[in-house]
Amino acid sequence: MRLILIGPPGVGKGTQATLLKERTGALPISSGDLFRAEMCAGTELGNLAKSYVERGQLVPDEVTIGMMRRRLAKPDVRERGFILDGFPRTLGQAEGLDHLLSELGLELGQAVLFEVPEDVVVARLGGRLTCPSCGEVFHRVNRPPKVDGVCDRCGSALAVRKDDQPETIRERMRVFREATAPLADYYERLGLLRRVNGSGAPEAVYQEIVRP
Ligand code: AMP
Repeated sequence: MRLILIGPPGVGKGTQATLLKERTGALPISSGDLFRAEMCAGTELGNLAKSYVERGQLVPDEVTIGMMRRRLAKPDVRERGFILDGFPRTLGQAEGLDHLLSELGLELGQAVLFEVPEDVVVARLGGRLTCPSCGEVFHRVNRPPKVDGVCDRCGSALAVRKDDQPETIRERMRVFREATAPLADYYERLGLLRRVNGSGAPEAVYQEIVRP
C-alpha cells in the first residue's frame, strides 16, 4: 500500500494512518511529526521549522522535500509501503514527491482527499490535547483521557499544541484552502484521487479508503 492522505488539519488523517498501519502494516509517515521531533531535539532543521510551525505556516518546500527525501529513502519504506500524512501540501511538494518516488522506483497507489465542513474541523482541533512525551492524541469531548489532563499511555501531562490555539487554527485552515486544496485537481488528473467523507466515524471513513 502506497497512499497519501490530503485534508485540512483536524480532519482525522492521523487516526486513519494509525488504523491503516494496524490493519495493513504499511508505515505511517507524518511530516508534522517529523518536524516536531526535530524541534524537540533542537536540531538545525527543527530550529528553522519552529517559527513556521508555531505560526501555522508552511515550512518552505525545499526544506520539507529534503526532510521527506531522507525519510523515504530508508529501506523500511520499500519493505512496508507507506501512508503519507500531511505531505505533500503544495503543488511543488507533489511534484517533488513524484521525482522522489521515480528515483526510488516506487509508484503511488492513491491520493485520498478527506472532505469535511470547516466548522467541524475547527471544533475538533479546538479540543485536541497532545502528549508532549509520547505523541498520543486525545480530545476533550471525543476522546477524553481516563484521568483529566494525563496521558493514558505514558502518564505525562497533556498539552494543547501551540498551533492548535484558535488564531493559529484559522491560519492553518487558510493555508490549506490556498496551498493544499489544489492538490485534488493534480491527483484527479493523474487518475489517483479518491474522495472520502471525513465527517463519518473512523470505521466508516476507513472502509471508504480501502474499498476496492
Ligand atoms: P501537522 O501536524 O501535519 O498539522 O503539521 C504541523 C505543522 O508542521 C504545519 O502547520 C506546518 O507548519 C508544518 N508542516 C507539516 N507538514 C508540512 C508540509 N508538508 N509542508 C510544510 N509545512 C509542513
